[in-house]
Amino acid sequence: MSEKEKESDQTEVYKPELFSTTPHPHLIAGRCKSCGKYTFPKYYACPFCFSDDLEDAPLSPTGILHSFTTVRRSMPGYTVPYLLGIVNFPEGVRVMAQVETDKPEELKLDMKMGVTVGFIRKGKDGKDIVSYKFRPVS
Ligand SMILES: [Zn+2]
Repeated sequence: MSEKEKESDQTEVYKPELFSTTPHPHLIAGRCKSCGKYTFPKYYACPFCFSDDLEDAPLSPTGILHSFTTVRRSMPGYTVPYLLGIVNFPEGVRVMAQVETDKPEELKLDMKMGVTVGFIRKGKDGKDIVSYKFRPVS
């Protein structure tokens, strides 16, 4: 089932073009067909060589936790506190997203993080907005 198919009257998927759950949850970056470098999200032109010949490219399903924080005040719709993490992927991109874990005290820099999909915030219309997040993997 794709993320778009999961969308319902109570749920809205934010930025479905940036991730997929098949065959496993992963992010979809842009890869420059000229120089091979990745960006997330995909840019209109490569920031390294300025080529506009870019393709969608899956990122590795796991990366390394570069930094994280606990957000205690946020915009309307966000349930605080929540965890926010920055993950480095082997393809050379760094991505920020919410972190989902039952044991926040066990988060450590350089730990392995996987991609998951879950609740991000409430929309103005009361819908649950879901999108990509990170979670620790052992
Ligand atoms: Zn390039």
